[in-house]
Amino acid sequence: MTDRMDILVFGAHADDAEIGMGGTIAKHVQAGFKVAVCDLTCSELSSNGTVERRKKEAEEASRILGLAERSNLGLPDRGIFVCQEHIEAVAMEIRRLRPRIVFAPYSLDRHPDHVLCGQIVTEAVFNAKLRRLRPDIDSVAVEAVYYYYINDVAEPDLMIDISDCYETKQRSLLAYESQFESPVGREDVVWTPLNQGYLERVEARDRVLGMKRQVAYAEGFATKVPYLTSLLL
Ligand SMILES: [Zn+2]
Repeated sequence: MTDRMDILVFGAHADDAEIGMGGTIAKHVQAGFKVAVCDLTCSELSSNGTVERRKKEAEEASRILGLAERSNLGLPDRGIFVCQEHIEAVAMEIRRLRPRIVFAPYSLDRHPDHVLCGQIVTEAVFNAKLRRLRPDIDSVAVEAVYYYYINDVAEPDLMIDISDCYETKQRSLLAYESQFESPVGREDVVWTPLNQGYLERVEARDRVLGMKRQVAYAEGFATKVPYLTSLLL
């Protein structure tokens, strides 16, 4: 039987979770919480890297972050849709790992698979709690869903101060060497947005978000419902 997770992060591709919230993951792992990442696809259509190499990179990034588990649903790259089959695959993963909190990509992003991943996860969280849907597997009601930014950024509803975990986030991103390495002098590597200053842009975004609350680095999140707390102090 799989241990219950505190946090489950969904991404369309390995590296989505690290780009958007590697610092938040590292911070919660260091605080003793169990964090899992589930990638929906094997990124078989990535312009650079192979499925095998990306799998190894994801394993290395998972080790750096201290993930309790990383899974891959093997759905088709550029073939994920808000359909019953894919919603159920995600809902069953939520039931298997039984997280308290789920994270998914934000609803606006230049990559359509990030947008679709967020929509599928939203639907799946809802279905995971319906006890009469697939009654053979125990239903689970997650406490909250938060949306993280990958390529696009919006005014966050919530920020996490990740200043003391930034180095870990950077190391987890650098594990995805096939995505960020320069094509200069290489015949087998092509230019993509990811190998043209992308990591510097992610760092700049996290710094700008941190500036809103006078911390060195922050990751921002959106919520569909107001963030609820019982005490402010
Ligand atoms: Zn992606």
